[in-house]
Amino acid sequence: MNDLLNTLPGIEPGWVWLTGAGPGTTGLLTLLALRGLQSADVVVYDALVDQDVLKLARPGAVLEYAGKRGGKPSAKQPDISLRLVQLAREGKRVLRLKGGDPFVFGRGGEEALTLVEAGIPFRVVPGVSAGIGGLAYAGIPVTHRDCNHAVTFITGHDASGIMPEAVDWAAIARGSPAIVLYMALKHIAQISGRLMAEGRQAGEPVAVVSKATTAEQRVLETTLGACAADISQSGIEPPAIVVIGEIVRLRAALDWLGAMRGRALKPDPLGLRRQGQTG
Ligand code: SAH
Repeated sequence: MNDLLNTLPGIEPGWVWLTGAGPGTTGLLTLLALRGLQSADVVVYDALVDQDVLKLARPGAVLEYAGKRGGKPSAKQPDISLRLVQLAREGKRVLRLKGGDPFVFGRGGEEALTLVEAGIPFRVVPGVSAGIGGLAYAGIPVTHRDCNHAVTFITGHDASGIMPEAVDWAAIARGSPAIVLYMALKHIAQISGRLMAEGRQAGEPVAVVSKATTAEQRVLETTLGACAADISQSGIEPPAIVVIGEIVRLRAALDWLGAMRGRALKPDPLGLRRQGQTG
């Protein structure tokens, strides 16, 4: 394992690695992310990065927090980008570590653009995004050929903190059998109401996956019509992914994590297997 890691490039002085840490558990780090942690002088990390991941940093590496936690104001995005530029110009090996994948609702693109403008060399290390890997940990495949040939990833709030109006909700309601929402707990009443107004059924299955892949993972199964009330009643906490669509039904069969804790899995959750059918 260490031999393999050593064949991978490490961070060079003056470079920034924009790196995804995955949704939580250390097991979902990529080898390059681990290599970055082991070669960094400075790790600039977000609130969503798990403490266990940070423990893998090289002893002596400086851990610098850049993000929002406990209601405190977040470091402003331009400040973070400029800090990366500053550290790189000092000749540091900089690991910019973000939850999930840096290019999925993570402002990785914005930071990379600042680096380009400043002439700082950088690498992008993709990570497992919560909207895919987090759902897998809840036993929900993001696509399944009996349910959906397409999936839409949406942010539940835009830069100004409201339900994003730039999203064509009518087109999504009509054209996307599966909808995966990031950052959606706050506006879920509005979003679910809008999707139903645009034709989605109140009985459509919904799952909310909170703190996915961590020891505190929690999953709430509900419906589009009931999700807003169920979410506020359950006290389920962010960060959470909300997934809408028939794929949620597969959880009854595929909740492998639940099975490890004794949950009985039901084969044929979609009711597709008819008598006498083979193959
Ligand atoms: N770049 C990240 C997303 C950042 S936006 C990624 O690719 O996953 C922040 C949102 O991501 C949260 O509001 C939540 O919707 C989702 N999220 C991140 N980590 C999560 C986790 N462990 N469990 C559930 N949702 C998570």
